[in-house]
Amino acid sequence: MNVILLGAPGAGKGTQATRIASRYNLPHISTGDIFRANINDRTEIGVLAKSYIDKGQLVPDEVTCQIVEGRLAEKDCENGYLLDGFPRTIPQAEELEKFNKIDCVINIDIDFSYLMERLCGRRVCKDCGESYHVSKLNGKTDCAKCGGELYQRKDDNPETVQSRLRVYENQTAPLIDYYTRKGVIVNVAGEGTPEEVFALIVKALDAIK
Ligand code: ADP
Ligand code: ZN
Repeated sequence: MNVILLGAPGAGKGTQATRIASRYNLPHISTGDIFRANINDRTEIGVLAKSYIDKGQLVPDEVTCQIVEGRLAEKDCENGYLLDGFPRTIPQAEELEKFNKIDCVINIDIDFSYLMERLCGRRVCKDCGESYHVSKLNGKTDCAKCGGELYQRKDDNPETVQSRLRVYENQTAPLIDYYTRKGVIVNVAGEGTPEEVFALIVKALDAIK
């Protein structure tokens, strides 16, 4: 089963992706995570990606597509995969389609008014990637799952979030129409708790599995 998770920044893609990957035994491929790992390791791709990510812009399609194609060619993707954060533009979707058949696109649909507060209050575990909201941490600075240190992503500040949301509206939201026309999209309300949203996703995926 080849699955795409679509949704605005802060819609909860990362949180849901972890759960979907473990329930359906799919490799979780997050382009954001791949870029951040490259930034950490100071690779050439990392240096390039950082110059875009810090401004809230997209990394160019060519670079992004190359990374994803390489990743999808690995053995663990043979029986399906979960893409989180890719595609983010129509050209990326068209490129993906050349080599892959997508079974389902889950679109996490959420009102924009939630996103600024979610993203600016987000803290992420540097070891396992789990996200938390600062309002629920009671001052804790380590991960409840693995004990790793929590940090705030550099692009989770009001200015960069504004620009990420604009980029989403202009470049990524058109994918909703694109996949609707292909008949593979399932829209899921993203305002509920992570458990509620996950239950909706499971229902959708169980129906096509
Ligand atoms: P979020 O969904 O919260 O914005 P991600 O971790 O998915 O966070 O992405 C972080 C940043 O990485 C994006 O703002 C963008 O700059 C870059 N990025 C991730 N995926 C893509 C992609 N498919 N195409 C271009 N840039 C990407
Ligand atoms: Zn952790």
